[in-house]
Amino acid sequence: MTEHTLTVAGVAVDPRHWIGGERVASAGTFTDVSPIDGRALGEIARGTPAEAAAAVAAAKAAFPAWAATPRAERARILHAIADGVEKRLEELAIVETADNGALLRSHRRGVMPRVAHNFRFFADWSLTLDHEDFETRGHTNHVSWDPAGPCVLITPWNAPLMLATWKLAPALAAGNTVVLKPAEWSPLTASLLADIAAEAGLPAGVLNVVQGYGSEIGDALTSHPDVRRISFTGSVPTARRIAASAAAHLTPLSLELGGKSPLLVFADADLDLAVDLAVEQYDNAGQVCLAATRILVEETVAEEFTRRFVAKAGALVQGDPREEATDIGPTIHPRQLEKIDGFVRRAVEAGARVVVGGHRRDERYYAPTLLTEVAQDSEIVQEEVFGPVLTLQTFADEDEAVQLADDTRFGLAATLVTGDRERADRVTGRLTAGTVWVNCFFVRDLKAPFGGSRHSGVGREGGTWSFDFYCDLKNTVTAPKGWNDH
Ligand code: NAD
Repeated sequence: MTEHTLTVAGVAVDPRHWIGGERVASAGTFTDVSPIDGRALGEIARGTPAEAAAAVAAAKAAFPAWAATPRAERARILHAIADGVEKRLEELAIVETADNGALLRSHRRGVMPRVAHNFRFFADWSLTLDHEDFETRGHTNHVSWDPAGPCVLITPWNAPLMLATWKLAPALAAGNTVVLKPAEWSPLTASLLADIAAEAGLPAGVLNVVQGYGSEIGDALTSHPDVRRISFTGSVPTARRIAASAAAHLTPLSLELGGKSPLLVFADADLDLAVDLAVEQYDNAGQVCLAATRILVEETVAEEFTRRFVAKAGALVQGDPREEATDIGPTIHPRQLEKIDGFVRRAVEAGARVVVGGHRRDERYYAPTLLTEVAQDSEIVQEEVFGPVLTLQTFADEDEAVQLADDTRFGLAATLVTGDRERADRVTGRLTAGTVWVNCFFVRDLKAPFGGSRHSGVGREGGTWSFDFYCDLKNTVTAPKGWNDH
C-alpha cells in the first residue's frame, strides 16, 4: 500500500500507470465513477502523450529479451498469471463490477474464469505453432513465427479484463511486449492485472499499462514509429481515427468494432428457445457488441413470439449488479443513458411502437425495451444503440429474412432459430457475419476465428489467427544439401 493506493470495495488498487515494472504517477488525474450509484471510486492517472511514449519506450527496451525467451518459458509465466487471476478471482470480480456495473455473478462464474483461461489457452496454443518444412527444387522452406515487437492494445469498458486478455495473452505468448490502454470508464482491473503479472514473474517492461483518455493519449500510442501492432476493440468512429493515425507508419491493425446483429426466428423454431435467446440480449444491459438487437420473426408466429417475450422480459429483475437475483444492471454512465434515451425517443417520434419498456428508470438504469413498427432504413434499425433496446420486425419468407438480416453496414454476428437443418445451412451461407449461431448464442471457443465483416471490424482473433496477427511470419529458404561443405 502507498499513499496512492485506492480501496475499491475493500480491494487495494493502484491508480497510477505501470511502466517498465514501476508505478508512475501522472501529472494529472481524472475521477473514476461507479455506474452502480455514481459514487467516485478514486482519482486515476490521466496520461499525457509523453507518458504514453515512455510506456512504448519501456516496451521497446524489454522486447529483445522477451522475444528471445523460449516459448515454453513464456508459456509457463502465462500459466502463472492465470494462477494469479484464479487466486484473486473474487477481488477482480468485485472491482470489475464496481467499475463497469456488469453483474457480479457473471464476473465470478463466467468472466474471470475465462480471463484465466485466455492466458492458459494462448500459452498452450503458442507451443503448437508450427509449419512443416517443405521443399522447392531441393531447397528447404522453413516458416517461423517471429514476434512482431511492441504492441498497443486499446480496449473498451463493456468487458474490460475479458477483452484486454483476449489480446494480451496471444501478444505475450508470441513474444511481444505490450502497452495496454484500458477505457477511462473502467480502468481498475488492468491495474490489478499488472500486479498479478509482476507477481507471476513477467519481466519489467513486457506489460505496461497507461491510463487516461484515448482522445488525449491515443495518437501518441497509435502513431508511434516503434509500435509494430495495434489491436483495438471499440467503436467505429474511434477505429477511423486510429486507422488514420496508424497510417503514418503503416502499423498493422486489428479492429473489433460494433454490431447490429440479427436474431432470426423461423416459424419452425422452438419458440421458447427463441424467446430465451431473445431475452438474453439484455445481458450486461445490452452493452455487448455481439448482442442480437434486431429480432426478425416469421409473420405467422410473430404474435405468439411477442406474447411469450413480453412475459419473459417482464420477469427480469433490474437493479444492483452486486445482488445475486439481479438480471440487468445499470448502464455504464449517465451520458450513455442519455444516448440510449435519445435513440428510443427519436424512434418513437418516427413511428415506432413501444412493446416493452421505452423509458429510463432513473439516470443510471434504462428499462429493457422492445420496439416494433420500425422501418428498415430507420436509425433504430441501422445504428448500434449499445443499451437494452431491441427491435422486432417480421418477414414473410426466407428471402426476406436474409435480405433484412444482411441490410446494415455491420457484420459481426447472426443468430438463427429454426428446426430445419437444411434451412440453417442455406441461410448461414447467405449471411455476412463473423459468427453465426444456430439455435444457441454466445458460445465461443478460443480456437475459432472471432471478428466482424464490413464496419464490424478488420481481422480475426482466436487460435492461430491471433498469432498470424501478432507475429511476423518469416520464410527461410535454404539451398540444397552441400552448400555448407568445406
Ligand atoms: P470507444 O471507441 O469510445 O473507446 C474504446 C477505447 O478507445 C477506449 O479505451 C478509449 O479511451 C480509446 N480511444 C478513444 N479515442 C481514441 C483515440 N483517438 N485513439 C486511440 N484510442 C482512443 O468505445 P467504447 O464506447 O469504449 O466501447 C463500445 C464500443 O465497443 C461499441 O461500439 C461496441 O460494439 C464495441 N465493442 C466491440 C467488441 C468486438 O469484439 N467487436 C467488443 C466489445 C465492444
